[in-house]
Amino acid sequence: MGLEQCDAPEQADVVVLNTCVVRQTAEDTATGMLGKLKPGTSANPGRVLAVMGCMVGPTHQELSRRFPQVHVWARPQQFEPILKAVERSFGGDADGCLANLVPAAPGVASFVPIVHGCDKFCSFCIIPYRRGRETSRAVDDIVHEIELLVARGVKEVTLLGQNVDSFGHDLRPRADLADLLARVHDIAGLERIRFLTSHPNDMSSRIIRAVRDLPKVCESVNLPFQAGDDKVLADMRRGYTRSQYLEKVAEIREVVPSTTLTTDLIVGFPGETSEQFDRSLDILESVRFDKVHAAMYSERPGTAASRTLPDELSPAEKKRRLALVNELQEPIQARLNSAYGGREFDVLLEGITRGRPQGRTRGDKLVYVGSASDGHEHRADTQSARLGIGETVKIRITETTPWSLAGEIATLTRNASATRQLEAVI
Ligand code: SF4
Repeated sequence: MGLEQCDAPEQADVVVLNTCVVRQTAEDTATGMLGKLKPGTSANPGRVLAVMGCMVGPTHQELSRRFPQVHVWARPQQFEPILKAVERSFGGDADGCLANLVPAAPGVASFVPIVHGCDKFCSFCIIPYRRGRETSRAVDDIVHEIELLVARGVKEVTLLGQNVDSFGHDLRPRADLADLLARVHDIAGLERIRFLTSHPNDMSSRIIRAVRDLPKVCESVNLPFQAGDDKVLADMRRGYTRSQYLEKVAEIREVVPSTTLTTDLIVGFPGETSEQFDRSLDILESVRFDKVHAAMYSERPGTAASRTLPDELSPAEKKRRLALVNELQEPIQARLNSAYGGREFDVLLEGITRGRPQGRTRGDKLVYVGSASDGHEHRADTQSARLGIGETVKIRITETTPWSLAGEIATLTRNASATRQLEAVI
């Protein structure tokens, strides 16, 4: 539409604030930003200030009353009202703008939403109320978007959904995530495929076999368990029991033994007793996850838990439980990662962090190339090092921590000159 990117939101003629409300703090950040943008909006009457994303529910009268400076409220993926407002303010023709949402210079690894919304209605979660029911994107659209991304240098895609495993049940003809993985796998030039976030009830045997059978699909699964006790799981309305969760983990490990597993866990859910919390710790000990995203329960108004389950546990007790999770998990990660030492892994280089090239293994382990402790500052010779970004390099792991690995280049890969260049930098 002829508009150019502006890095300072205070000076921009069009501001689109994309919002997340999965936690209250995220929503507070968005509303704080709206306050900061208010003076600039009053001073620039032609400006279009749009709020998009999960903060915008099916109705927005209450939001409009609180934030009169906002011109457009757009639900997730509803770009049309924003384009119409820009047309009205600045002229131009929005026709065809939506067909080209792929960034001109995407990173090496990109995220691609494939299903929006969620049908699960876990009692603590606001997402289904804000994002609505599951709506899958058409397979051809997704494939086309990834082809465009690959043409612009992307080597890895992560297929995204609140419940990614439920992809396709609403499509006609029906498809599932395994079908989509097979289609995406056929895209020439794409090297790696991941998907996020899984739900234990929807991660079918077909999907697990697709991870085993399709070489580009990485052996890395995020499978939230949220709680280790059946009563708490029932109160959360997760739809599975502890033993069903553990059976799913066993199936994944039997079919794809090299899978790295990460998980999400809530501590201090309303009514969670110490004994029930201990059952979450049991799961951490027995499954031995590669990473755990643990969060203290915080009430989200509008959810079933907020209406029916009083949040009576003190913040201090929630913090204590979170600390126990971290204390237990850190040595588990340290032990798992130490097993990588001395071995070689394919690492897709994604960028430079503090002068060191950095990438990930197929199992999603963060790997730095070069040592952080070899006594000299890694000069940010990023011009040269960038030549290796986007390459898959064989790295021999020499250092491990609970959170990352570091190593040195073991062998040259396909693009030998880029790898040599990278070696020179390191
Ligand atoms: S599966 Fe549960 S926690 Fe995840 S988005 Fe859906 S309702 Fe929320």
